[in-house]
Amino acid sequence: MALDEIVISRAIIDRYYQKLTDNLETDVAIVGGGPSGIVAGYFLAQAGKKVVLFERKLSIGGGMWGGGMLFNEIVVQKAALPILETFGIRYRQYQEDYYTADAIEAVATLTGVAVRAGLTIFNCVTVEDVLMRPERVEGLVINWSPVEMTGLHVDPLTVRSRFVVDTTGHATEVVKVVERKVNGKLSTATGKIDGEKSMWADRAETDTLANTLEVYPGLYVAGMAANATFGGPRMGPIFGGMLLSGEKVAKDLAMRL
Ligand SMILES: Cc1cc2nc3c(=O)[nH]c(=O)nc-3n(C[C@H](O)[C@H](O)[C@H](O)COP(=O)(O)OP(=O)(O)OC[C@H]3O[C@@H](n4cnc5c(N)ncnc54)[C@H](O)[C@@H]3O)c2cc1C
Repeated sequence: MALDEIVISRAIIDRYYQKLTDNLETDVAIVGGGPSGIVAGYFLAQAGKKVVLFERKLSIGGGMWGGGMLFNEIVVQKAALPILETFGIRYRQYQEDYYTADAIEAVATLTGVAVRAGLTIFNCVTVEDVLMRPERVEGLVINWSPVEMTGLHVDPLTVRSRFVVDTTGHATEVVKVVERKVNGKLSTATGKIDGEKSMWADRAETDTLANTLEVYPGLYVAGMAANATFGGPRMGPIFGGMLLSGEKVAKDLAMRL
């Protein structure tokens, strides 16, 4: 049978439209497709929750692709090995408590396994604002990333969710939007974004988990965004804290849902 270009177009449009309308209302909306966001999405989907992830870029994986300084190997400490095993990511011991994995395998496997578990991902979509009712975050305002990049004057669309998770890394983009609107009412020490501190891997990895919290009603932070919000240090290219933080936020939310 001859292939028909219009059927190809119709298939893409029909399927995408269905996926988008199916995800206008979810239990959890995750912003940012780095390691913490993907892992959070996986564990929420596994728990039977309806979960969607929006990523600004064409590719999923955030800062994990480049390992450290583009050397595409990642380091993971022993505590996070069960997560690599859950996903089926291969790793090798480097020395006691230090393990390495191929960054490309890690991102590709995290993504594939999470999507198969039920996480829906929309790439090339930027979150530019939140839905607020009035003292609680209840969803997101989204637009195509190319619209943002080109500065076109195009109104966004909205999605509703019972909880939002900011996993946008250093940028803490969702928390920044909320901070501007709630005037010192974040649950941080200062009521505002406390700001990320300088590199201290050991302390930062522990802090990342401790800082994986609800920062405003309806809004959680995980991954690097957790430390940037609550004033923890950065940790460099060790990824155990990112993975464990994603798992933690998923488990906390699954309990609340
Ligand atoms: C300059 C620089 C320095 C870094 N230094 C460190 C460091 O010292 N320690 C460290 O641990 N990590 C550092 N990282 C990031 C590093 O890769 C992280 O370890 C890890 O990837 C963070 O994981 P994450 O899941 O928190 O978020 P990330 O891997 O950072 O992923 C965040 C994702 O969110 C997406 N995103 C952001 N805003 C939006 C939005 N509004 N809408 C939709 N998507 C959005 C981004 O495109 C990205 O894919 C650095 C990254 C950069 C760019």
